[in-house]
Amino acid sequence: MRSCEAFKNAIEIIKDLGIPNPEKIAQSYPHNLSGGMKQRIVIAIALACDPILLIADEATSNLDVTIQAQILDLLRDLKTTTISSILLITHDLGVVAQTCDRVGVMYAGELCEVADVKDLFTNPKHPYTKALLNSVPKFAQTGKLQTIAGIVPNLVTPPLGCRFHPRCERVMQICKNKKPDNIDTGNNHQVACHLHIN
Ligand code: SF4
Repeated sequence: MRSCEAFKNAIEIIKDLGIPNPEKIAQSYPHNLSGGMKQRIVIAIALACDPILLIADEATSNLDVTIQAQILDLLRDLKTTTISSILLITHDLGVVAQTCDRVGVMYAGELCEVADVKDLFTNPKHPYTKALLNSVPKFAQTGKLQTIAGIVPNLVTPPLGCRFHPRCERVMQICKNKKPDNIDTGNNHQVACHLHIN
């Protein structure tokens, strides 16, 4: 059994995350662990540095819904007990709705809308955000699922002006050559779209 300080700290962090048999887990190889357990250990590794910000990039991808819910619970607990901020990067709008306080929607590498999570879901302002929300399957959906026409642009030669313009249903002439500014629409809600110029 190892006894160095770093190993003892690792055991403590693993224990704090509610993982059973921390001594055994700390000496296991990744292939000995389940997907959910591996994800918890990655979070433990990040916590070992005592961060003030935890960046969780697709932290719940490829996990089944039960394990996903456990990881999200863990992140929520950490947010109230251990870390002041968590930046969650995800394609899953359900994860955003359940977990986040504030959300930034990105398209082709640029922020197009930033708002409190409830405000974004009830009052989306950017055409891309609206299209994204419309393309999420609804519980009682019967008709065809909505999609966003076109494809994501090549970022080596991104479109001029608004990067979303080749796919936007509300596109105007100005959108094709002028990049929209970030406009504050009140309620701490910002949107980068020419439709919102006063
Ligand atoms: S700036 Fe123009 S193209 Fe871009 S999202 Fe707004 S309306 Fe659509």
